[in-house]
Amino acid sequence: MKKKKVGIPYALYFYEYYPLWKEFLTRLGVEVVLSRPTNKSILDSGIRSSLSEICLPVKVFYGHVLSLVDQVDYILIPRMVCIEKGAFFCPKIIGLPDMVKSSLSSICPIISPVVDVRKSYGTWKNSLFQVGQLLTENTLAISRAISLSWENFQKNYVAHLLDPKVLRPASLIEGQDSINSKRQWEEKPINIAVVGHDYLIDDSYINLNLIEKLKRMKVNVLTPGMVHPAMVKKQLKKLYKPIFWSLSRKAVGAALYYFENGVEGIIHLTSFECGEDSMVGESIHHQSQKCPEVSYTEFVFDEHTGEAGINTRIEAFLDMIRRKKRIENSLAPSW
Ligand code: SF4
Repeated sequence: MKKKKVGIPYALYFYEYYPLWKEFLTRLGVEVVLSRPTNKSILDSGIRSSLSEICLPVKVFYGHVLSLVDQVDYILIPRMVCIEKGAFFCPKIIGLPDMVKSSLSSICPIISPVVDVRKSYGTWKNSLFQVGQLLTENTLAISRAISLSWENFQKNYVAHLLDPKVLRPASLIEGQDSINSKRQWEEKPINIAVVGHDYLIDDSYINLNLIEKLKRMKVNVLTPGMVHPAMVKKQLKKLYKPIFWSLSRKAVGAALYYFENGVEGIIHLTSFECGEDSMVGESIHHQSQKCPEVSYTEFVFDEHTGEAGINTRIEAFLDMIRRKKRIENSLAPSW
């Protein structure tokens, strides 16, 4: 029998949850088709088919959906509402399945389970179950696929993230004092934290290859994913008002952590037309004023793909940091 094909757009929250959905669907005998990394034609078709006032990552999401329509039987677009107590996804992500359906009328069926852990029908397991029922009548197979994919997701991705020895520098181990951190980081020429939503940091087409550009300029790049989640939570408690957007909590908590832990610069990546970022950016900017030793800047991305502007801004930012370092070194005692 021909396998059913489910398309997953390589954008937005799938940067985090793709492994879970991929394993779950594969275990049900479904072929998963992931759209290709963002490119010009994906971006252009997303821009053409969406409302002009929508943020860039959602436009890119539309482009990924369109790139899949001729290849698959269904497209998976979960309605992500709430995955942790007291925090929510932004309205555009909550309404994403409706926006896609209304703007792109002639596409294949969309599977849009609700993920809202406050409600019994919206727990991860129930959402996966609903999707499984659309694809097979074998409820036993669905239950088995849920428990195995959930277990592996926790073990391979979430636990990996929580394991301080994996992937991140020793200086970022939870509880290690910042003096040690500074000593280790001094060996590198310049340490810059790039903070923001994962889908801006990890999509090199949207961010005009920023991370690679920094690395080529001998910068040690640090991201929110390298900060232990417990440390992110601890930093967020210092804020006067809690942040109740799930996607921004990690970015802000990581930025606060890096301000105190030996980076020379922080770059906040934001999207034009993002309501969250406009407020979250203020909060990070406010913190930067308390830490003048850390240089801070914000890069706003929209659909313009000219690289000259960003190259100039990177060079200017690095020049500022180098000049600061030279001044600090010349003032340091010479013993
Ligand atoms: S958080 Fe901002 S950038 Fe992300 S989808 Fe919502 S409005 Fe767009």
